[in-house]
Amino acid sequence: MAFTLPALKYDKKSLAFLSENTLNFHHGKHLQTYIDTTNKLVANSDYEGKSLEEIIATATGPLFNNAAQAWNHEFYFNCISPEKKEVPANLLKLIEENFESFESFKEHFIASATTNFGSGWTWLCHTGGNKLKIFNTSNAANPMVEGFTPLLTVDVWEHAYYLDFQNRRADYLKEFFEYIDWDFVASNLK
Ligand code: MN
Repeated sequence: MAFTLPALKYDKKSLAFLSENTLNFHHGKHLQTYIDTTNKLVANSDYEGKSLEEIIATATGPLFNNAAQAWNHEFYFNCISPEKKEVPANLLKLIEENFESFESFKEHFIASATTNFGSGWTWLCHTGGNKLKIFNTSNAANPMVEGFTPLLTVDVWEHAYYLDFQNRRADYLKEFFEYIDWDFVASNLK
């Protein structure tokens, strides 16, 4: 079964900080291309029939890059909400235990993403026990490969924000943070 473009869970016109134009390109063109290229590279290979997670775990080169970008983008789009949301109590407690306060977590997450050099992703991961950690990765890299569980990610490739924010990545990140789907983030806690 070939991979297909996952539908967004919200209307493209419903986001407060990203335009329909951005989503048309980012979801409709960039993500579609990663999926199409993954399908081409998987066809007639040992990876045929495997899930994206299984591919990411062992693939290298262009197949890793395209399959990981397909996974990362679906996860990222699910991290966004049209409405501002409350952080569920169990997740809030864990964040406060790991980062002293929610405000301090917010500062660290945004600072990390702002200074993630070049194209990449900034993640909040569950690393085992009661431990949470912020990671920066470059290009398509995903902390799942290191054995960590992604809870939240933000795309800091310029294509994620340039049409709406031009070079102002920090402004994009401040807005992104206000519209995180915390129910989705908490649902990723195993
Ligand atoms: Mn992207």
